[in-house]
Amino acid sequence: MEGPGKVAFRRTYSSHSIKVRSVEVGPGSFQKIKMLGRGDVGKVYLVREKKTTKLFAMKVLSKKEMIERRKIKRALTEQEILATANHPFIVTLHHSFQSEQYLYFCMEYCMGGEFFRALQSRPGKCLSEDGSRFYAAEVTAALEYLHLMGFIYRDLKPENILLHQSGHIMLSDFDLAKQSNERGGRPAMIHQEENGIPLIDTRSCTADFRANSFVGTEEYIAPEVIQSTGHTSAVDWWTLGILIYEMIYATTPFKGAERNDTFTNIINLPVTFRDTPKVSQACKDVVTRLLDKRETTRLGSKSGASEVKQHKWFAKINWGLLRNTQPPIVPTASNGIDAVNFRQMHESTSLHLEKQHSTQSRAPSQIRGVAGAGAGSAPGTPGADDGLEPPADGDLFGAFSSMTLHYDGES
Ligand code: AMP
Repeated sequence: MEGPGKVAFRRTYSSHSIKVRSVEVGPGSFQKIKMLGRGDVGKVYLVREKKTTKLFAMKVLSKKEMIERRKIKRALTEQEILATANHPFIVTLHHSFQSEQYLYFCMEYCMGGEFFRALQSRPGKCLSEDGSRFYAAEVTAALEYLHLMGFIYRDLKPENILLHQSGHIMLSDFDLAKQSNERGGRPAMIHQEENGIPLIDTRSCTADFRANSFVGTEEYIAPEVIQSTGHTSAVDWWTLGILIYEMIYATTPFKGAERNDTFTNIINLPVTFRDTPKVSQACKDVVTRLLDKRETTRLGSKSGASEVKQHKWFAKINWGLLRNTQPPIVPTASNGIDAVNFRQMHESTSLHLEKQHSTQSRAPSQIRGVAGAGAGSAPGTPGADDGLEPPADGDLFGAFSSMTLHYDGES
């Protein structure tokens, strides 16, 4: 039995459910082993939970930097996505909490490292057409789920795709994701496929939603983002097109000598294919359809992921069995602590987890919807970050929930 006030909400996906409880750990519950990576405002460490000796990836975000760079709302969005997502290709969150100086996300440790690095270490820095199709399919499944939740990912690139030890993908880094105001608009059922699997129109989940901010990674940015005409979930299908191209050709299609050349190419140049490696006509077609400069005719713009999944290039994919299929890249075997699939990182200032003490923050029941709150505050307000209203109590991080998530079937 769950005690009163303990369980805030339960989210179910396939056969698993998550229980969200008041946080059961703090910074001092973990021992830092090494730094795994650096993000926009934070650092990610490999840590070991002292009590269980389990390894986790701990993302630590500096509050000071978030205030200065107006990135608080991004952290709240990231928390909401990580806390509510329950999908095999999206990184799992176990705890989140805060101290006076930092916010902490304690996540599943993706031992396989960055997909980008794995790609770089392959002959020719690329994958075969079949290998590319496999990873494109896993990414499509993850995007489908995010769109269904009402989020646009906006930052797909090989650097943000992590690999599980098994070689399956794990999407991470949701600080650029955008949420539609009506969280997760209702998906529309289109029709039943022959095999009985219903096709779901995920486009409708984010349909009313156009974001305007200029975000994303240079070579992956969609034309409508460069032209600031506002953008929809179709930006994620554009970035999928760039990703497929990069997996096959080891370069992106519109790369120019300078940033502005790249942007000019993205807006004006048609996508072209080299003679080598040879790829199928279906492959060229899916990339061309995803890289349609007009978002209204782009593959995925009408009914979202189901439209992409139905393209003939994906005909070989058994969507229901993806996670049981042997991935084309098998990361180097690791005992975890050696972090063999990660670069050596050096920390300029060392973080001492033991010296950090948890501070109180909102109960987990209030997490839902925080990321969409407060639109329209005056630009320039400290911490206003994309329009996040400073709360009456002045605690800019009060909306960041401290919580522990329990997943069904976990030991
Ligand atoms: P991010 O700020 O999420 O982009 O993370 C920065 C870097 O930290 C990534 O590029 C990875 O190298 C590493 N990283 C982030 N999350 C994880 C994780 N869950 N497991 C392993 N490494 C991670």
